[in-house]
Amino acid sequence: MTLQAPDGAPERPGTHQGSNLFLAWAHVVTLLAEHDGLRSFSLPYPREAQHALDRTVLHCLNHGRTPPKSLPELLSWCTLRNASDPLFDVPHALVTPDARLIHPVGLMPTRTCLELAPFGRPGRAEQDALDSLSALEHRCGSADRFDRCRRFLARRPVISQQDRFGRAWEPVTWNKVRELYEPVPEALWDRGTLTLCGTCGLPARAPRGERHSGTDTWCEGEDCPRGIPFRRLRKPGQCLILRRSLRVFLTLPSRTEQEVLDELTRIGAGNTLLPDSGLGTYHVTAPGSRSWYVQVHDRWQPTLLAGRVSESFAGAVDPVLVVVPRRAADRAGYRAAFETALGEESRARVTLTTSDDLERHLRPQDPTREAEEEHA
Ligand SMILES: [Zn+2]
Repeated sequence: MTLQAPDGAPERPGTHQGSNLFLAWAHVVTLLAEHDGLRSFSLPYPREAQHALDRTVLHCLNHGRTPPKSLPELLSWCTLRNASDPLFDVPHALVTPDARLIHPVGLMPTRTCLELAPFGRPGRAEQDALDSLSALEHRCGSADRFDRCRRFLARRPVISQQDRFGRAWEPVTWNKVRELYEPVPEALWDRGTLTLCGTCGLPARAPRGERHSGTDTWCEGEDCPRGIPFRRLRKPGQCLILRRSLRVFLTLPSRTEQEVLDELTRIGAGNTLLPDSGLGTYHVTAPGSRSWYVQVHDRWQPTLLAGRVSESFAGAVDPVLVVVPRRAADRAGYRAAFETALGEESRARVTLTTSDDLERHLRPQDPTREAEEEHA
């Protein structure tokens, strides 16, 4: 398992071992979180975890460091140490230097952890989301039904008893998607409640009381604006929650996806959700313009996103618009890291953009109107 540097990314001598160790830990953290939310461990450890522990001990001994004594200690390192820690020394061109694998407040795998994979390939969590959607698409049997189910999953990461008796409930869709939900893991319970972020709607953690410092709260979205009140659901034992992989790779970008669809309608562009397109690829035709592929993502790591896009569209004829939330596109270094990692071939046909900038790409401006606007 290697985390290769993209074309053009600086590669420093001696960094491979640390990068690969970081990747191996991400795999183990993702795996362990699926079963018991990183809370309790007993011997014997799962095979992958024992292997990562052994590799870490060897790595530490080879570099004159004190190795971790146990899996819990190794996991506490994942909370405390980031990608730029001398233990890993992951090149900044691959992963942002402050990235950790376990969130210190949420005590759950971070988005970086779930996105980490060998360059260009899906990680364990993304593969789970891809497999889940592919199986659902086949169960649905028609594009319309699949589209309805996909929207249901994106909009309803948590299902309460109340939802199931509400007027907006969709029993036929529920029968198709039911198996993608699971009981709320105890790791997300907080004194008899499940806390949900008021912005992304995903599980969150906040101390009781009105005032938060901002550093003592967490939600799975990780970068939602401060000050929006969290919601607390009672009786989490009676709720069901969408699989984490789909919460991260389908629900999180769904708000941006809806903005894109609204914008396409506004400018009169036709769009079709392509069959078997993984997490969702639209083929878009705007009046007076050529056809485009449009994919919506909300990824923390731009380099890893570029790798996935390059792989997905290798050999595609039409150009590709990759739409990300404005807050991601505006993050320092995000666009530059994405473009560098694309490599020369993909850079010619892949463009990173935001929903409010779609029209500029899809509808070529009338030069006269453009000149008028400039003088206005
Ligand atoms: Zn949030």
